Amino acid sequence: MFRSISHFWPRKPVILLIALAMLGAASHAAAEAPMQKSQAPGYYRMMLGQVEITALCDGLIDLDTSVLKNISPPDAQNLLARALVDNHRKVPTATNAFLVNTGAKLVLIDAGGGTSPWPTLGRLPRNIRASGYMPEQIDAVLLTHLHSDHCAGLIDAQRKPVYPNAVVYVSKAEHDHWFDAAETKDVPGAYQKLVPKSRKLVHDVAGPYVAANRWKTFDGAELPFAGIKAVAAAGHTAGHTAYEISSEGQTLVILGDMVHFPMVQFTRPDAAVAFDANPTRAVAAREALFRRLADGKTFVAGMHLPFPGIGRLRAEGQNAYAWVPIEYSPTVGK
Ligand SMILES: [Zn+2]
Repeated sequence: MFRSISHFWPRKPVILLIALAMLGAASHAAAEAPMQKSQAPGYYRMMLGQVEITALCDGLIDLDTSVLKNISPPDAQNLLARALVDNHRKVPTATNAFLVNTGAKLVLIDAGGGTSPWPTLGRLPRNIRASGYMPEQIDAVLLTHLHSDHCAGLIDAQRKPVYPNAVVYVSKAEHDHWFDAAETKDVPGAYQKLVPKSRKLVHDVAGPYVAANRWKTFDGAELPFAGIKAVAAAGHTAGHTAYEISSEGQTLVILGDMVHFPMVQFTRPDAAVAFDANPTRAVAAREALFRRLADGKTFVAGMHLPFPGIGRLRAEGQNAYAWVPIEYSPTVGK
């Protein structure tokens, strides 16, 4: 037995090394890894004091830069060029939601656009699961407003509630805008044309929650969740609402849709978009809130800011700001 093996074994060490090197080269060629072509799950987590914040990706939408208003085309073009988007008019734009675990309640802020006309949205439920939670665990959904990319994900394709154990909260002004015909008279003409279709969608997504007595409105800042309050920020829609979360001296303000084009509207908060129901009020709300938030400490998050959509604001002169995104951290904190 030993004799027969030694018969084939190379006599000199150098021949053995050459043989092994050839074998290694051959196996390397055979083991080329196939490309994976899949993305990391769309969630990002941080602690805000004792509150856990999970940013969630619902998908991307293309926004056309032609919807920018209240800014001259050369000024808009200049700011877009700085973000290297001057050669095309469509800007891939994140759509985010945020899950807040207060320790007592699990609160989702906005529900994404599943079932909306946006085919690239609807990843929120799978990303909630990927982050370790189940949609059934969610106690409440706080809506910033009732545009389809924020509320259409409340129901699935069979029109069943995606969050069957949640109570949905929306500001009374926002609710009335979509549910009371008299409330939609004063919106701009272009926007007015969209109202009937949008109203039908809102009624469809709200329906199962209204029927189950799980659709509630609020008026003012107080909400029944410790550490979370509403911040009136009307203009983008009649009752558009930001949410302020505080714990142990740390604060995060979730802006909702106060920014659609970060490369333009931080530098020029006076720039509006065509789908602001009341552009003058939208600009005033943005300018007032940015002034308050640019203290270098307060965390700021937005539904259409590059994922995970969390950062801080730095003041850059009179009524101009810069966006400072948070740094990825491989750990979540205490
Ligand atoms: Zn939106």
